[in-house]
Amino acid sequence: MKIPSTPQLTESVLQNLTKEIHEFANWISTDKNDFQIEFITINEDWFLNRYSDILKLNCWIGQSCTPDFLTIVMLHEAVHVIMNNIPTKEDVKFVRDHFHSLAMNATDIEADTIVFKYLKETKDWSFDRYIAVLHENANIFGDLKPRTVKIERFLGSLCSIKYFALYQKGVIMIPSLDDCIGDSHSILFWLIPKSGVPFAFRFVDVPARIYKDVIRIYTSPSRFSETGYLKIITEFTENVCSSLFPPKLSA
Ligand SMILES: [Zn+2]
Repeated sequence: MKIPSTPQLTESVLQNLTKEIHEFANWISTDKNDFQIEFITINEDWFLNRYSDILKLNCWIGQSCTPDFLTIVMLHEAVHVIMNNIPTKEDVKFVRDHFHSLAMNATDIEADTIVFKYLKETKDWSFDRYIAVLHENANIFGDLKPRTVKIERFLGSLCSIKYFALYQKGVIMIPSLDDCIGDSHSILFWLIPKSGVPFAFRFVDVPARIYKDVIRIYTSPSRFSETGYLKIITEFTENVCSSLFPPKLSA
């Protein structure tokens, strides 16, 4: 990821972001809103760290993305800091060293889903609006030769968010693409539902065209219009959700 050296954000963007993060912390729990926010701009690949009661937001990405995307990025990081007890980038590395990429993928997919839940419940965001913001900023995270774990995180977030948008229920879906070789497009999902329901592992056979399209929107998002991008994501996520949770069971 290229880090711009002289990012500048308007005062109103920073004020809105401050308000949003405090509102988000309150939405999680009023006793979590116990910090002050400071903005800095340094040439390092992290966004939000917590030092005692100070949240430091490193807004370098704001120069190359829209304010909505900046908000999504910072709220995602706020979940790690406020809920996951992962206060700094160094702690992310510590968790990854101990529990490997799968733990951070699960945590990231859950954080994305919590952020969407907040935006839907408090700002009436739809799934389509969320995807439009991703599309508008996809040049930032698109990657022609991504590691599989990055694609798995992307697809897991989309499916978990779609499930919440459809049913207002949280299920974290962590995909493994290990069996997707050659003509096989069979994705194994690790499903982590909430409270009292056991983990489950289930395969979903995704039609070849849909699988190839959804991989392509991750690797080359700029080749797709917003409509095309949304259409592919909708097809993929609806296919996965209806295969994992047939309508008669999830009503
Ligand atoms: Zn994260």
